[in-house]
Amino acid sequence: MPLNPQRTIAELKELRALTSDEHGAQRVAWTDTWLKARQWFRTKWQDLPVTQHYDAAGNNWLTLKGESEKALLLGSHLDSVPNGGWLDGALGTMAALEVLRRFAEEHRGQPPVTIRLVDWADEEGARFGRSLLGSSAFAGTHSIAADRGLTDRDGIRLEDALRRCGVEIERFPEAERERQNAAAYLELHIEQGPVLERLNLPLGVVLGTKGVERHAITFHGQEAHSGSTPMNVRRDALAAAAKLALEIRPIAKQHADAVCTMGSVKTFPGIVTAVVGRCETTLDQRDLDARVLASMFQQACEASQRFAAEEGCTVEWSRIWSIEPVPFHPALLAFCRQAIEETVGVSHSLPSGPLHDSAEVARAGVPSVMMFVQSLGGISHNKIEDTREEHLETAVIALDKLAAKTAQWLVG
Ligand SMILES: [Zn+2]
Repeated sequence: MPLNPQRTIAELKELRALTSDEHGAQRVAWTDTWLKARQWFRTKWQDLPVTQHYDAAGNNWLTLKGESEKALLLGSHLDSVPNGGWLDGALGTMAALEVLRRFAEEHRGQPPVTIRLVDWADEEGARFGRSLLGSSAFAGTHSIAADRGLTDRDGIRLEDALRRCGVEIERFPEAERERQNAAAYLELHIEQGPVLERLNLPLGVVLGTKGVERHAITFHGQEAHSGSTPMNVRRDALAAAAKLALEIRPIAKQHADAVCTMGSVKTFPGIVTAVVGRCETTLDQRDLDARVLASMFQQACEASQRFAAEEGCTVEWSRIWSIEPVPFHPALLAFCRQAIEETVGVSHSLPSGPLHDSAEVARAGVPSVMMFVQSLGGISHNKIEDTREEHLETAVIALDKLAAKTAQWLVG
């Protein structure tokens, strides 16, 4: 049996011991600990018949040449958030390596299609606030002008942090070369949410990544003395914002998988003796269906106008960021479902709320799919992030089956 899921678990523990402290994983991209993780990863494939290179955006590629140039890509990311968990990204990367080993051994170094492992650079965007950096360079959706001057907490520029790791942001477009012959992309990831655990299922098919509408919403009222201003003449900006904060919940609940979050509320002047004259809020709305997303956005806009009017206020919206929903490839979704059913008997399909590198890969036109494995307590980006070992094992096995089916499809 060339596939050894126990080895994946042992390697993940090794990586955790090497790159975590008492607060959790510290593999933040472009830091020494991240470089140490990548150095450690080097020791894991030295005996495999692969070639290795870093592309112009710092993505790490291992290539096992097959009879066909068509390439099946497998990957995830070794970087973590500060005080992160041991599985986010690392599981997908180490499971991909195990599947690569299986292909190398079973086909004596030359599988029917080329198999490529990718460890994306800076998926998390934890240091500079720019997520999916390496995969956006691959996809050609990078934003060099906007990104180069971003600074971390210590005022270090993104451009300089990358240069220290041998990456020139100017050369990002060269990473698009890696798309050549890329015929499919598969990624295993922990769910980072509670859905599979609540269904008591180990594995799920990811339908796609949800689209996001992210806006800053500011209500303007009238700052006034809290003692002298009668209730019926107040223009309380917080009251209008508070109504919206509650209204986004029924707006989301009209749809099975939609979510709406008001994550930040700031009041001005923000003192105990003044009616709130200005209230700055943020709204993050997500769904896999572009029409649902558009309608939720519309409903929230209308509700904000109504509540502003009710409270004698005005409201303004400005878009912070948005991305369209990215549905995964129908053929790969079917293979993923079969692979899970063959491994654990039953499969469930769900969209991904968090973004992943696979969204960039899919947007670039490479057929893609993701598989989720249950997260205990639905917790991630936290040192207590965990998954049962037997579930990790079945995840590696199911990913391998999915890879085998996909390789077959590519030669067929
Ligand atoms: Zn991740």
